[in-house]
Parts: sequence; C-alpha cells; structure tokens
Amino acid sequence: MLVMKFGGTSVGDAQCFRGVKEIVARGVRKHAPVVVVVSAMSTVTEALLESARSAAAGNEAVVAEKLQYLRQKHLRAIEELFPGPRREQVATAVSEILAEFEKLCAGMALLRELPLRAMDAGLSVGERMSATLLAQHLDDQGIPAQAVDTATCLVTEDNFGSAPPLMKETREAMRRVLLPMTEKGTVPVVTGFLGATRGGVRTTLGRGGSDYSASIVAAALDADELWIWTDVDGVLSADPKMVGEARFLDELTYEEAAELSHMGAKVLHHKTLAPLLTRMIPVWIKNTFAPEKPGTRIGAPHAGSPLGPKAVTSLAPVSLLTLRSNGTPGTTELFARTFEALSHSQVEILMVTQASYQDSFCLLVPQSAAEKAQAALAQAFRLELSHDYLEPIEREDVAAVALIGEGMRGTPGISGRLFGALGREKVNVIAIAQGSSESNISCVVALQDRAAAVKAIHQEFIVPSAAQSV
Ligand code: ASP
Ligand code: MG
Repeated sequence: MLVMKFGGTSVGDAQCFRGVKEIVARGVRKHAPVVVVVSAMSTVTEALLESARSAAAGNEAVVAEKLQYLRQKHLRAIEELFPGPRREQVATAVSEILAEFEKLCAGMALLRELPLRAMDAGLSVGERMSATLLAQHLDDQGIPAQAVDTATCLVTEDNFGSAPPLMKETREAMRRVLLPMTEKGTVPVVTGFLGATRGGVRTTLGRGGSDYSASIVAAALDADELWIWTDVDGVLSADPKMVGEARFLDELTYEEAAELSHMGAKVLHHKTLAPLLTRMIPVWIKNTFAPEKPGTRIGAPHAGSPLGPKAVTSLAPVSLLTLRSNGTPGTTELFARTFEALSHSQVEILMVTQASYQDSFCLLVPQSAAEKAQAALAQAFRLELSHDYLEPIEREDVAAVALIGEGMRGTPGISGRLFGALGREKVNVIAIAQGSSESNISCVVALQDRAAAVKAIHQEFIVPSAAQSV
C-alpha cells in the first residue's frame, strides 16, 4: 500500500491536476493499492481565512471579492478538466460546498465574531473542493476514485484550529472507511488537514497540516511508504537563497528530518514524522513537476546510511534571553522557575545554554514569543528583580544556525572545524549548544551574520561531497 500526498501547488490549476493524474496512474500500475491525500488548491486556505476575517470585521466587499475568486478558481479548473457531461455535476458539487462557506461567513458577519469552531468548518471547504475535483478527474480518466471527507474518519480532540488526532479511533475509522474502497480497486482521495470530533464537529489539524494527515493515513493503513509530492526536488542541504551550492539530499534519517524542521527548514509539517515511527514507514519527498527525479527519502537509518554532517539550517529572527542571578536564586531554582513560567505561557524554547560557574543562562525563543516570554519571566521573578538579586532580563534578536547529521558526536573535530570556519569569516559566535541530540550542533550569531555563517559551515562540511547540485 502506497499513500501519496499532493500539496496545494501540486493541484494549483487544471494543468497541475493532469500532472497529478499521471503520477497517480503510474502509482496504481506499480504500487497498488494507492491512497491519495490532497491539500486545498494553492492560495485557497489563505483566501478562505481572509474572507472569514473580513466577514467578522463587517467588510462585505472583501468577502464578496474573495468568494468570487474562489468560485472562479475552481470553476475554471473544472471547465478545463471536464469537457464532457461530468462538468455540470462537478460544478454543482463544488458550488454546494462553497455555498456552505458563504453561509458561515454570513453568520460571522452577523455575530461580528470569528469562533474557532466555525473557522474550522469554513476552512474545511478548501480540501473538500480539491478532493472532489481530483477524485472526479481521476475517475473521468479511467482511474476509479472516490473523494473522502476525513470528517468521517479522522477523529480528533476538540481543540479547534489545531486539533490533536485520537489515533486509536482514527485507525479504526480509517480502516473501516478506506479499506473497502481499496479492496475493490478504487483510489480514495482523502482530504488533508481535516478531521472531526467524536461527536462529528469539524476540526482542522493546524495550518500546513495535510502532511500530518497523510502520515496519519499511512500509519492507520499500515502503508509500506508515504510519498509527499510538492514543488521541489527534495530536501536541500541548505537554503539556496543563502548557499548557491546547496544540493538535494538522497536520504535523511527521521532524527535528522526532525532536527531540520525544528531548526527552521521547511521540510515537513513538524508533527508529520511521529505517526510513522511505530512501523518505521519511510517518507519520500518528491517533485510533482519533475516526477522522474528520485527525491529525498526519510526513514530509519540502515546499514548503508551516510553518517556525519548533511545539512545546514538557520532560524531568524529568534530572541536570546539572558538571565543572570547574583546567587539567589541559585541555578537549579532559576531553571525550574524559568521553565515553569514559560511553560505556563506556552512559550516554545528552542535552545538553552548555561555558563559553567555563574548562576546565569541564555535561552532562545521564537521572536514572535519573546515579549510574552519576557512578561512571564518579569512576573515570575518580580521580587528578585526589584531587589536586584536578578539583573534585568536581557533580550537580543539573533539568528540560530545549526549543522545537522546523525553520528557527529562519534566523529572528533567537527565542532573545531565548524568554529574555525566561522572564525575565518569573522562571524562572532554568541552562544553554542551541542544538545543531547547527537545530530545537531547549534550556535547563535548576530542577525546580519546569518547568511555568512550558513555559507561558511556549508562550505566546510557539505560542498566537498557535492553530487546533485541544484
Ligand atoms: N490547506 C491547508 C493550509 O494551507 C493545509 C495544507 O496545505 O497542508 O494550511
Ligand atoms: Mg499547503
């Protein structure tokens, strides 16, 4: 069993749908049974979001304009894809789905409110329309297919806007809904991003969640592989905007891919890998527009897996917060209270470093969370701050740069070479972390040094072995 996921750009217009059909046809010939998971057509989720926001703000003109855009985008694709009698039928189905959204917008306009629950229902129309279009197109082209709204089989909690899946129930429901289809040779075309609570109320998995949906489907069906079709040839060794010599990677381990997405690389939605780990289902990242290229394989390390540095990534702007105590509170208490305060206010911590003798340490948080973090710490340590036991919390906006690759800890000299490379480029290192993870050496540099740092590290470790350049 093969699960294939197509992102928004892969189904951007009629021409793209045709390309997807070719890929699915080949998949069915070689790897049947195939299950397809699809995102909304590109720009659609954004347009839906904007109309809902405008509706709640009472801006009817924008709502009307966006609705017109959405209608035309889908109807144009339908016109091009279905010359025959199916056109009418597909157009009606899509219009009915969009009409639901129109009603929701009217409700939001009336209430002048944007309830998350209604928002999820509204956003669901994007994937429902694209799944309908794709299933009908495949079926029309001789590949029996059927659209599946995952409100019927992806069971989640009721955290609207970013609902965690309930895996046991989902597995049961997906097998019940999807396996009878694949058994009779029909390709299920499953909506990405969407789910529903036990009570059947629509939810979404969070923006960009279709990758995650796909890995949930793959895990639920015990698929052999998951192929994620996107608009690039695979995962790159660095951002090509910073490094001209960046190259596509043949393979990555789950751990490396997780480190990369944690450190800012746009590899996969960050929750995607978790469902695959139990059965070690490998994921391939492939290019819809160049399907003959092999892509990048992400999976468990195997005997022939290349070890050592593989990719350089960076995250910016991020904020470095420095806490310095004069001894009271001591390090342990300082840590405990800091983490508690940040966890209460749900601030993600990207990196922590500690001076070895002083009661001081730095932590790195996303810049968007920096103010919240500062406020939480100011509140937690208000007494210590007012008595100067704690120096005022410093904040510096910086860039984090990381070298990723499994097995680096077993290779002496890597850190030395890394800092040597930065030194030669006159990049000053503000903080360093080689965490408990063996596969990530991170450092913090000034914002303006970001690109130079990435380039220097890439040059030192990756370029010599360059194979498939971009
Ligand atoms: N359509 C959704 C979004 O844009 C989900 C996805 O594309 O993965 O966030
Ligand atoms: Mg998308």
